[in-house]
Amino acid sequence: MEEILQKYYGYQNFREGQGALIDYAVEGRSALGILPTGGGKSICYQVPGIALGGLTLVISPLISLMKDQVDALTAAGIEAAYLNSQQKEAEARAIERGLIKGEYRFLYVAPERFDKNDFRYLLSRLDIRLIAFDEAHCISKWGHDFRPSYRQVVGRVMSLGAPCMAVTATATADVRKDIQSLLHISDDCVVETSIKRDNLAFKVDPTFQKDKMVRRYIKEHPDDSGIIYATTRKQVEALSEQFRDFKISHTIYHAGLPAEVRAENQTAFVNDNCSVMIATNAFGMGIDKSNVRYVIHYNLPQDLESYYQEAGRAGRDGLTSECILLYSDQDIRLQQFFIGNTQDEVIQDMKKEKLEKMVQYTKTTQCLQGTLINYFNSEEHLEPCGKCTNCLMEADYDMTTEAKKLLSCLLRMKTPVNRSVLTKVIRGESFPRHDFEHLSTFGLMKEYETKAINGFIDTLLFNGYVDEIDGRLSVHPSAKEVLLENMQIMTHYHPVDYNERVTIHTLVTVDDALFDVLKKVRKTLAEEMKIP
Ligand code: ADP
Ligand code: MG
Ligand code: ZN
Repeated sequence: MEEILQKYYGYQNFREGQGALIDYAVEGRSALGILPTGGGKSICYQVPGIALGGLTLVISPLISLMKDQVDALTAAGIEAAYLNSQQKEAEARAIERGLIKGEYRFLYVAPERFDKNDFRYLLSRLDIRLIAFDEAHCISKWGHDFRPSYRQVVGRVMSLGAPCMAVTATATADVRKDIQSLLHISDDCVVETSIKRDNLAFKVDPTFQKDKMVRRYIKEHPDDSGIIYATTRKQVEALSEQFRDFKISHTIYHAGLPAEVRAENQTAFVNDNCSVMIATNAFGMGIDKSNVRYVIHYNLPQDLESYYQEAGRAGRDGLTSECILLYSDQDIRLQQFFIGNTQDEVIQDMKKEKLEKMVQYTKTTQCLQGTLINYFNSEEHLEPCGKCTNCLMEADYDMTTEAKKLLSCLLRMKTPVNRSVLTKVIRGESFPRHDFEHLSTFGLMKEYETKAINGFIDTLLFNGYVDEIDGRLSVHPSAKEVLLENMQIMTHYHPVDYNERVTIHTLVTVDDALFDVLKKVRKTLAEEMKIP
């Protein structure tokens, strides 16, 4: 196997995880590899594919990916081809003839291809020795990027009788189990290396001036290549227009652009003809650009899988790179809105849970890298990374007094209440339930802004002193150590910061693009959400 690696790829050694996965495949056992972005997942099925001879069928979700991979293989002297819907009929026929003659070692296809009878017939005539599922999380309903066509393929390829190699960078425990059971992969053939990326510095910035922040960042990093992700096409266009006004050179990518334009823009970015890419999440899967120095999320993504995958496109060359998440409360509402449109109720609940975890990431005071890694693998023990915003920001505000006030207020209220009830009572705001106004804790923190109080509540939640069940807060028994034993609580939420931010917030105009989207689709919803 090392010989193949050296001969065709020019690399001396396998990376962590590659060797074991390749061995399973060569022994004819199906395997699952969970390796970080840029970890070298392609080689895990390409090297055994070459060793096994015959044909390796690679199922890949994106047409743009196939071409790059096939070009790279061909350049290395390995016969490879792809079949997809964008090809000319004559070209496809020529490849089919070549396949029957056994001229290719690799065939890349999109899952939709299997819908065609003649394609399935073609497969039955080929000498397929290995079936690879790239971006295998797309198979699972519990994955963040579930594609039904991907799942359907499974039944159809299993009958070909070849072992499977599934690879992905983002699999939670559920997804992993799902892939294993669908592809009949036993526990001992799962290889999971840490998906930790030491060179990435994660930052969370709840700024209310995203535009300014992004422009400043780019101006400060003029020679660096970077990606800015926004949620909607409209936001991408709006950012692009703004960048034009500020004469910042950039390119864009979203599903609304014609295929040729997308391909052209992608190439411009990948070949360093243009250093800034503004895109929706349609951009980037499988792109092998090593020198991306930063990935900025202009909006909150739907879940941590998406976030880690997108952010992970920074620093594939191992050099220090930044992953910055900007977010506002509006982003959460936009994602909730998208999730609300999900048909299947089970999936909707799952998405809600994932969004909740994503929101928690923005609020945690723990190491951000650790939070991300433990989301995927709760057993991995990590030291603080030392470079994320939370590691760099000392928890230096002593909120013990505030904690005592909040906990005792919550205790006196006797029943679990939602956040806004607690904040209103403790701030002494007028309130429909008069019995709360007689509490001795009513108005105990009236000098604090609501935002600041929310920051304290978050810290209490993350330290486990308060429970949140169905959106209602109650005091956890462990709060005893705060109330009775003088346990000190530190946070990096400064009430003063919060007050400043609140002032800025009221001055900032609502993101028009976002508002338009919401207004058009469901007017009443916008009202319900009280967007001005
Ligand atoms: P991903 O896991 O994200 O799919 P790729 O398969 O695209 O990663 O590989 C990322 C880069 O790492 C490629 O340029 C690839 O050639 C390189 N690579 C893979 N395996 C090795 C190795 N054993 N030694 C050195 N470079 C490798
Ligand atoms: Mg890949
Ligand atoms: Zn950290």
